[in-house]
Amino acid sequence: MTRGGKRIEMGRMSGAMPARIENDEAGMRLAIRAALAGVAEGQSPFGCCIARDGEVLAVSGNRVWDEQDATAHAEVNAIRQASRRLGSFDLSGSTMYSTCEPCPMCYTAAHWARIARIVYGATIRDAAEAGFNELAIGAGKMKELSGDGVELVPGLLAEECRNAFRTWQRLGRGRPY
Ligand SMILES: [Zn+2]
Repeated sequence: MTRGGKRIEMGRMSGAMPARIENDEAGMRLAIRAALAGVAEGQSPFGCCIARDGEVLAVSGNRVWDEQDATAHAEVNAIRQASRRLGSFDLSGSTMYSTCEPCPMCYTAAHWARIARIVYGATIRDAAEAGFNELAIGAGKMKELSGDGVELVPGLLAEECRNAFRTWQRLGRGRPY
């Protein structure tokens, strides 16, 4: 969709992305939608939305298999989209909604982008149990070790986020990595 002359990239999600969200749950629902859209295409069951002051800046799924890029996690993709949209790497004041607790790479990318809040649903442990080769270092541990000031909000719509893993397993079209 186009808004204010700048294109919001949707990945391959179908349907229009709302320009605004009213609350955290709405942001997470966009992230879940991106995860499920990816699952339907054989991608991995992760999604992310970034918003600032209610304005949706980016929504993306995980594109690791599609792009053969190990760094194409949903959070990194969304940070890149949001930064292109704003013409700035500085996403200060933004909230990241991630269907799964960010891995250390994504947590660090959020730090570099100056994201203020990270809201997530499922945990790294859930992703590991689904078969992904996760480093067992949670976002809380990253925050504790680094002294980073980001606000972490765990467990939002966690059951629905975990359900993306189950749908992915049931369809059997994707592979863990
Ligand atoms: Zn990640």
